[in-house]
Amino acid sequence: MASSPAVLMRLVASSYAVAEQAGSVVRNVLQSGELGIVEKTGANDLQTLADRLVQKSICASLSRSFPKVTIIGEEDLPVEAVEENLIESGQNSVILQKSCPNQYASLKEEELVVWVDPLDGTKEYTEAARVLYHPVYIQKPVHHHRTPTRLLDHVTVLIGIAYGGKAIAGVINQPFYNYQLGAGASLGRTLWGVLGLGAFGFQLQEVPDGKRIITTTRSHSNKLVTDTIQAMEPHDVIRVGGAGNKIIQLVEGKASAYVFASPGCKKWDTCAPEAILHAVGGKLTDMHGNAYRYNADVKHMNSAGVLATLRDHQYYLSRVPQAVLEALSSD
Ligand code: AMP
Ligand code: MG
Ligand code: MG
Repeated sequence: MASSPAVLMRLVASSYAVAEQAGSVVRNVLQSGELGIVEKTGANDLQTLADRLVQKSICASLSRSFPKVTIIGEEDLPVEAVEENLIESGQNSVILQKSCPNQYASLKEEELVVWVDPLDGTKEYTEAARVLYHPVYIQKPVHHHRTPTRLLDHVTVLIGIAYGGKAIAGVINQPFYNYQLGAGASLGRTLWGVLGLGAFGFQLQEVPDGKRIITTTRSHSNKLVTDTIQAMEPHDVIRVGGAGNKIIQLVEGKASAYVFASPGCKKWDTCAPEAILHAVGGKLTDMHGNAYRYNADVKHMNSAGVLATLRDHQYYLSRVPQAVLEALSSD
């Protein structure tokens, strides 16, 4: 290839490097024990020092390399200079070497919108920290799966890329992947995908045929959510934190549907996960079966809920109770 890589591939390669650095910030803040927790709209809507630092890092790094791209981050932060040590200018070389799908090869920076969730699963991150730094556990470590440290897997960093209102590429870093292996293990992994190219950084697997395993929220449930799940007659229900984490469960064959029949998730929660899921043939819609749009001017809230599957999307859609459809307007 004589010409330089397409803008989209350079943006994905940068997002990959930036997401890896973000993962180390998330680990370092946990290790420091000083989370700097702030309640946003309430006790179920939190922000930590890691959310703030990572958003600054991602937004400043990407806007320095791609000044014309529109970048929208979850956190509402005061405008201030970003420390140089938070700037990541690297690019993943494997991604740079892949050829860009034809339909995106001539996209321009100004046509792209990046949706950033600096830390998805903040609630679980703070709960894990509370246990890790509780004096009882510091003195006497408890076997991991009996304690909320298992919640560390729920935490991800999400960078989604949209064009023409559609999620076309995404990067997910899971900072604590492999933490069960204990001291010395190298922590974290990065998954990424581009529509028309595929998704990488994990092994695609499906739940055995006919088995309905639903993954859903553990901290933002309500009657709409539970009524909908019940109507789908699942064989099993898994309650975990994070939109990114739940999409990872779908593509790794741990769950067959991600069901959240409620407002609460925002565009930065679904953009990167949706792109990766769609890159491997899955589907993410609202509870009516409509696609979400990711243009720069859209409303942030995914008001009509989230339904994501690798296959059999129609089955889950057909089971959504009428009362739930009426309660969740798609606007
Ligand atoms: P969950 O599955 O509960 O971890 O939610 C996935 C994402 O949506 C996380 O980023 C949550 O913070 C967000 N979310 C879902 N429901 C709510 C809510 N009621 N209030 C605030 N954020 C929410
Ligand atoms: Mg989130
Ligand atoms: Mg977040």
